[in-house]
Amino acid sequence: MMTDETRPPGWRFDNTYARLPQAFHSRVNPTPVAAPRLVLFNRPLAQSLGLDPAAFTGADAAAYFTGNQIFPGAEPLAQAYAGHQYGNLTRLGDGRAILLGEHLTPAGQRFDIQLKGAGPTPYSRRGDGRAALGPMLREYLISEAMHAFGIPTTRSLAVASTGEPVYREQPLPGAVLTRGAASHIRVGTFEYFAALGDTDSLRVLADHTLRRHFPDRVESEHPILGMLEDVIERQASLIAHWMRVGFVHGVMNTDNMALSGETIDYGPCAFIDAYDPATVFSSIDHHGRYAFGQQPGIAAWNLARLAEALLPILHPEPNSAIARANELLESFSERFQRHWFATLRAKLGLFTAEPEDAVLAEDLLAWMHQHRADYTHTFRNLRPAAAPSPTAPADATFTAWHQRWTARLARQPQSGSEVTQLMNRHNPAVIPRNHAVEAALTAATENNLAPLERLLTALATPYDETNQPTELLNPPPPGTPVCRTFCGT
Ligand code: AMP
Ligand code: MG
Repeated sequence: MMTDETRPPGWRFDNTYARLPQAFHSRVNPTPVAAPRLVLFNRPLAQSLGLDPAAFTGADAAAYFTGNQIFPGAEPLAQAYAGHQYGNLTRLGDGRAILLGEHLTPAGQRFDIQLKGAGPTPYSRRGDGRAALGPMLREYLISEAMHAFGIPTTRSLAVASTGEPVYREQPLPGAVLTRGAASHIRVGTFEYFAALGDTDSLRVLADHTLRRHFPDRVESEHPILGMLEDVIERQASLIAHWMRVGFVHGVMNTDNMALSGETIDYGPCAFIDAYDPATVFSSIDHHGRYAFGQQPGIAAWNLARLAEALLPILHPEPNSAIARANELLESFSERFQRHWFATLRAKLGLFTAEPEDAVLAEDLLAWMHQHRADYTHTFRNLRPAAAPSPTAPADATFTAWHQRWTARLARQPQSGSEVTQLMNRHNPAVIPRNHAVEAALTAATENNLAPLERLLTALATPYDETNQPTELLNPPPPGTPVCRTFCGT
């Protein structure tokens, strides 16, 4: 009989990034930690990756998920990249993350496996290369919630504590997150080589990225323009998805924008309760650069930085390159609007399209903003027919809006139950509400994982309101302080 210790976990590493030239990365092993302990392990994800969850229950699973041991076939390295942080270009690189390699899933997908918080690298600058348990649990919780919402995202396979403190404003328990991603290629990866004037490496990176994420473009006449167009389209769709569920990324620097179109780098992110486009959670975002409603504009700004970085290799003829890149960049706004209004239509149960739909949706948002109505609760509890929404007792503006909406629903052939189903697929019943997340993380750092596990269970089925905890279903009680979230933890 096979014991857990001898079961083959099922890794199939094929590390194409490690085979790229030296300028792309630095080989570096994780720094061993004192007392590894597995805190969370994502069995469904492991299964979907073709891994055997039973192989990760043995005594050494925690050693692997802190980097004390290295999975067979892994080739640990830190990736080089740059990034515009709050508008300023800086040389960065993985300062506390170590890429173990690329695992091939049974479906033939290539999946980066990365340890975050695994110790210093040549790109650590003044950082300690470490991460605190709270923020790593936060990334695990929110990335898995995003996945359950149906939003492209990096995934979280495990969190293991290190048994060592990390020193921030106070000593905190240290931890390592094992993250999965289609890749960790960022806008900032291209900016890194563009800033060095290293056109050869830029070309190598573009080839690698095309093969990995845009294989249909490889044989086209202008592959890199094709790639830029696909990246723009994916970001337009992604930001509409974020806004559908009230997500504020919080630190949309160009190093935190992935070419794959996945949401990446969960730092000071949070979800809005009351609808207000100016909502900011990050304690360092003083000017609201990355506020909820700014996200489409910031995505467009970041994509312009990508286009600039790609310019030397975009097109053999420089003037054509600039003209075509500008056309593509200008298309972002229209692409985003298309995704966003399709999203709003679905949130309102509209199957058909009428010219006034945008105004109908905007009027509801304006009412919500004025009344600080809860975004999730309002959409989820909209009911057609005579009964006004429970969130809007006897408000004349809302009642008038509700009558317009009901009349609009009557002009489409779909039944009431079809409308409800459409709405319930696009309006989550539960989101990771900030006050509940904070409480669960605080308890977890005091060794009580029960509240966090409760949230994880709830957020695995976010469109289903049955048996959901009231602290996630309802807006926070009046007077609940808005939690600040912190970067670089
Ligand atoms: P982030 O805000 O997590 O996206 O990180 C921005 C940059 O700072 C990246 O290059 C990180 O690798 C680096 N960084 C963040 N925290 C640390 C740390 N504790 N030690 C070293 N580098 C870090
Ligand atoms: Mg980052």
